[in-house]
Amino acid sequence: MPPKTAFALARFDGDYYPGTPDSFVRGPIQYGDMRKAKPRFKRVTPMTDIVDKKTRSRWMAGIRGKDTKPEIRVRSYLHRAGFRFRLHKKGIPGRPDIWLAKHNAAIFVNGCYWHRHRGCRKSTSPKDNKAKWRDKFAATVVRDERNLALLAKHGIRVLVIWECELDAEKRLSKSLPKIAKWLRSKSRYREIPPPVDA
Ligand SMILES: [Zn+2]
Repeated sequence: MPPKTAFALARFDGDYYPGTPDSFVRGPIQYGDMRKAKPRFKRVTPMTDIVDKKTRSRWMAGIRGKDTKPEIRVRSYLHRAGFRFRLHKKGIPGRPDIWLAKHNAAIFVNGCYWHRHRGCRKSTSPKDNKAKWRDKFAATVVRDERNLALLAKHGIRVLVIWECELDAEKRLSKSLPKIAKWLRSKSRYREIPPPVDA
């Protein structure tokens, strides 16, 4: 399946990962910027496939035990902490996993494999059918970029939590409170963990 956008087709001749969204650094983008905007992809050396087929298919399918899915962990935490939120709210760009109207905040819990978490051991590239996967990844990355730009344009705050941050149960007591801290802050955009090149 080819990527839906022309620029993705033109630019994706290797393995690309999303950069840090400039739209949040520069402030809201202006009307019309969307059409002109070029994606800011960085080309990086593809990571060698470090996992066996079985492990990857588990990562790809996102199969885990009950209540251990990253989104569920975040939701339960927020609920316990007394935050009110909606799931996959229509009308908000990207239909965020969690939408907190009171905080004007969208939370995305991103799978490292599909959303191409840069520098992450889970963001490997399959050896077979390279072109097919490259196009699939390209489409996802382009879509994410576009949604982030739209959210920035609407002044909506964004928190991206990568699933690898929520994998280890013993680290959760450190990871989860970062969410509440961010919600109460003035930060417009944050990634947990922070991007490697930041
Ligand atoms: Zn990751």
